[in-house]
Amino acid sequence: TDEATVRSLRAGIDAALAQAWTAGPIVGGQDLAGQKARPVLDPSDHTRTVGTTADATAEHIDRALALAAQAQPGWDALGGEGRARILDAMGDALEADTPALLGILIREAGKTWGDAVAEVREAVDFCRYYADLARKQFGAPTRLPGPTGESNELSLHGRGTFVCISPWNFPLAIFTGQVAAALAAGNAVAAKPAEQTTLVGARAVRLFHTAGVPGDILHLLPGDGETVGAALVADARIGGVAFTGSTETARLINRALAARDGAIVPLIAETGGQNAMIVDSTALLEQVVDDCITSAFQSAGQRCSAMRVLFVQDDVADQMAHLLKGAMQLITLGDPLDLATDVGPIIDEDARKILVAHGERMDREAKLVHACPTGADLPNGTFFGPRLYEIDSLKRLPREVFGPILHLVRWKADSLDQVLADIDATGYGLTLGVHSRLEGRAQEIFKRLNCGNTYINRNMVGAVVGVQPFGGHGLSGTGPKAGGPHYLLRFATEKTLTVNITAFGG
Ligand code: NAD
Repeated sequence: TDEATVRSLRAGIDAALAQAWTAGPIVGGQDLAGQKARPVLDPSDHTRTVGTTADATAEHIDRALALAAQAQPGWDALGGEGRARILDAMGDALEADTPALLGILIREAGKTWGDAVAEVREAVDFCRYYADLARKQFGAPTRLPGPTGESNELSLHGRGTFVCISPWNFPLAIFTGQVAAALAAGNAVAAKPAEQTTLVGARAVRLFHTAGVPGDILHLLPGDGETVGAALVADARIGGVAFTGSTETARLINRALAARDGAIVPLIAETGGQNAMIVDSTALLEQVVDDCITSAFQSAGQRCSAMRVLFVQDDVADQMAHLLKGAMQLITLGDPLDLATDVGPIIDEDARKILVAHGERMDREAKLVHACPTGADLPNGTFFGPRLYEIDSLKRLPREVFGPILHLVRWKADSLDQVLADIDATGYGLTLGVHSRLEGRAQEIFKRLNCGNTYINRNMVGAVVGVQPFGGHGLSGTGPKAGGPHYLLRFATEKTLTVNITAFGG
């Protein structure tokens, strides 16, 4: 963050953005002409074109899956160490490409500087972490005990071709993390980026290839979920699906996998949340306010981990609302390339319309505590100013609202059980925050709720690879957790080998 670093990064970003970015299908290591070519518009200013993208055709999908099937046994045979070296090289390649990646993340995905820098870091961390796991878990077979005259061993292998389908909200980190995990475990990969963020996906695939991943092992198949995504998950040749996105889409993929011919394959799904923070009257309110602003409004609330509901004990609720309102007045909405910006744009007009509609419903059903400026002075972008509403019950929020809208609910000293029951009843279980200086109470809440990631007396976003392995339960996902020690195992299959060694004179 020192001035010289910022200046040099800014020069690199400007140089990167001066280029005309193009992305389309990448099959067998070749950039191919796709269909439905269209401009990529900057969400913070739709009059600015960032580049062009085009979608994969049915022939591209067919060719990619055929090449992948042929090449995968060789990639699997390379072993954990060989693949780990390439993933480490990918970590280095990402680091070296930081200015260009920041430029694309800021202009294609509307990320602020801080968010973009954190995202490149996370992508690098995923590569190195999975490289490390590949070395440890995909090395020599494990020898198992057995009767005299017999040898027994267990080895881990790729499942074939993994389809990796990612969302636009972490278009580099989640995209790279899924692909790196599938590759580390010995799979070929057909990667489908979100339609809003194809440029960054293509940049990552080219870096993977430069780092040493063979062109026939990793293919990029951009396009809509309903066409390209659906065609990939319906194909009988695939060995598994890693999906991150909405709960609704995960259900569609589950159905498509069940309906198709071919092997029974796993779906690793990381989906939405209805994330709550519980604050009691012993909490340090100034810190709670900081943590709320970060958890609810950073990345314009477009994080699966973002806080949507703030349960505050009634005797501190007025004070809490007042402090939050004051802190919200300091939020700067604007161009994400401007270092002073706290909150950038919403990804596109469809997503913004959902927020506007939710706001209109809340205006009727709830009390508006504070609304930041709407971005009327930024008419060419899709902006939505952070808002805080007070609602009477969590039941007013039947599903995830993906943006910077926070809902405050009061609870009384004798109604904590009901708060926990209401959170449980949502069916989601992604992130949970607790602010209390009663350690026993905080621990009890953690134990009673089945949430994937719980944070006590701090903000509840920004899971670090290897430190807070990330992922939820129920409507929030299948596990295992990304960036955790068990993640690669779901991408793999196990084989045992039993040999009667007496036949070989042993
Ligand atoms: P989305 O479900 O609309 O899209 C995600 C991906 O699925 C995209 O690539 C899309 O093209 C594809 N897709 C859509 N329909 C498909 C189909 N029928 N078959 C195959 N693929 C299909 O989600 P989004 O709007 O891109 O992302 C936001 C959502 O992602 C939020 O719900 C958020 O909570 C969730 N998310 C979860 C995590 C996590 O780790 N749990 C992380 C980030 C985002």
